[in-house]
Amino acid sequence: MVRPAGRSRLYQHWKGRSKFYCDGRCITGGEVECPIACLGGLSCASLGAWLCILLPSCGYFVFLFPSLYRQWGPKLLAAALVLFTMTVGFLLATCCSDPGIIPPRRIVLLAGSREHLKQQLGYDLLGPAGLEPSHDQLIDAETMVPEHLRKQGYRWCKTCEIIRPPRAAHCKDCDHCVLRFDHHCPFVNNCVGQRNYHYFFAFTTSALFFAALVLPAFMRAFSGVSGDAPGWYGWIVTVGFVAVAAITVLLVCLWLYHCWLSLQGKTTKEHWRRLDFDSEPTLLALPGPRLMQPRQWVEMVEEADV
Ligand SMILES: [Zn+2]
Ligand SMILES: [Zn+2]
Repeated sequence: MVRPAGRSRLYQHWKGRSKFYCDGRCITGGEVECPIACLGGLSCASLGAWLCILLPSCGYFVFLFPSLYRQWGPKLLAAALVLFTMTVGFLLATCCSDPGIIPPRRIVLLAGSREHLKQQLGYDLLGPAGLEPSHDQLIDAETMVPEHLRKQGYRWCKTCEIIRPPRAAHCKDCDHCVLRFDHHCPFVNNCVGQRNYHYFFAFTTSALFFAALVLPAFMRAFSGVSGDAPGWYGWIVTVGFVAVAAITVLLVCLWLYHCWLSLQGKTTKEHWRRLDFDSEPTLLALPGPRLMQPRQWVEMVEEADV
């Protein structure tokens, strides 16, 4: 079946597992969406991550903060609001930003961006001019990747049908290649890669500082619960204290691990796979330009409706 196609946004032709929202302005990963979530793009794991931040924050601001405010005043309010806003903002940025997607072959051809990408990347993403992939991994790995690139670690992605740089990888959860791939995080339902690693690190840092501010308040309330307090209050304080303590321990481990990775100049994947790329910077490296503009208008004469 063939349908006439007019002017449309590039993201409307996307066939990977990632999903675009807000008319192509936001992108999330390819995790299965949570059936009880009314908001699109939330997987069960990412819904859990949001609840782990929002529920203790509500408990802190609603039940504990009034008495703390009388003691510490507006300075504590300002610190708590800044850290809460940073935590939520950086989490949102990690969840919805382009992690460094390398567009697959059909999207490059559709967008007509081959020459532009060649200038940005310093090599032809689609392989030698005039050559088309044979769809045989062994043959394409030899013929489509020039020898000088192969020696530098460039590899052929048989799914995207492109040449990917040495530190890039194909995410099977999102079904696309990502520049300097760190890992796919189910808790943010997105890949963490070259273009959003700084958001991810800023999120763990601000969440850790926010937890450090909130935990003593829960600890004080937990140790001060008396028999006179209503049962529901004691229950909220106990659950809140245990949850915030557990989240803080996890955040400390995660933050220290990524500090260590940054000092080593390695990604999570490179550490676990024991790959060595001369310890190039990760956190302090520039995110670089986007390789795909999802909102770009594309003109199509006709497209096979598959
Ligand atoms: Zn790929
Ligand atoms: Zn992914």
